[in-house]
Amino acid sequence: APGLYFVGTPIGTARDITLRALDVLASADVLAAEDTRSLRRLMEIHGVPMNGRTVLSYHDHSGDGARARLMAALADGQSVAYASEAGMPLIADPGYALSRAAAEAGHRVTSAPGPSALLTALTLAGLPTDAFFFDGFLPSAKGARRSRLEALRAIPGTLIFYESPKRIAQALEDAAEVLGPDRPAVVARELTKKFEELRRGSLQELAENLAENPVKGEIVLLVDRGSSESVNQGDIESDLREALTTMTLRDAADL
Ligand code: SAM
Repeated sequence: APGLYFVGTPIGTARDITLRALDVLASADVLAAEDTRSLRRLMEIHGVPMNGRTVLSYHDHSGDGARARLMAALADGQSVAYASEAGMPLIADPGYALSRAAAEAGHRVTSAPGPSALLTALTLAGLPTDAFFFDGFLPSAKGARRSRLEALRAIPGTLIFYESPKRIAQALEDAAEVLGPDRPAVVARELTKKFEELRRGSLQELAENLAENPVKGEIVLLVDRGSSESVNQGDIESDLREALTTMTLRDAADL
C-alpha cells in the first residue's frame, strides 16, 4: 500500500528483524536508508531481492533534494521504506524531518517496528520501568553535559542516555556529582551481541569501575530516579506554591 514506512532494523544480531519488516523491504517501490550499504547488506543476509531497485541515501541533513525525491514518490502514490543504520529510525537517528514532511503533506505514515537499544536496555536494567525519560546523547563538552544533567535532576523516572565508550567514565563522574553519588545506575553494553554485558552499581561505583576498566562497544546508560531526599520535596512544594500564587494573581488581574 502507498505511504511512508519506518522500518526497524537490528541493533546487533541480524536475525532481530521482523518478518513484516522483511516483507516491507521486499515490496516497497522505493528504498531509502541512512546508510545504503548496511541496508543492502541486511537485505542480502535475509535473501530479500533488490528487483532492480536501488537504495537512496537519506539523512535529515542531506539537503532538500533527497527529501524532495522521497516526497515526490509519495505524492505519486508509491510506497517508500526508510531504515536508519540500526534500531528504530528517528531514535537518536535521522527520519524526523521526513516524518513531519510526510504527515504535513497528508501521506500515510506507518511503521514496521523493530528493536531499539533504549527499550532493550530498560527491560534488562532492573530499574523502574513505569516512567522513564530518554535524553539521547549527552553533550560532549563538560560544562554543557553538567547543565543538562542538572536540568534532569528532578525528573520522576528512570533516565536513559546513549553514550560513547570514550566518554562513559567522564559522564558517570559528572552524573555522580550532579545527580548524587548513590543513585543506582546500569551501564548496558553490546546488547544482543556476543559481548553483551550489564554493569550495575551506584553512580559513584560505576564511575570508578569504568575509569579503571575502560570498555569498548555500544553503550546505554540508565540512572534511577532521585529519592525524595536527594530531590528536595520542600523545594518542589515551595516552587509549586510560588507558581500557583503568581498564576492566581495574574488571573485576578485579568478579571
Ligand atoms: N536508532 C537506534 C536505536 O533505536 O536504538 C540508536 C542509534 S544511535 C546513533 C547509536 C547509539 O545507540 C549507540 O552509540 C549506543 O549508545 C546505542 N546502541 C545502539 N545499539 C546498541 C547495542 N547493541 N547495545 C548498546 N547500545 C546500543
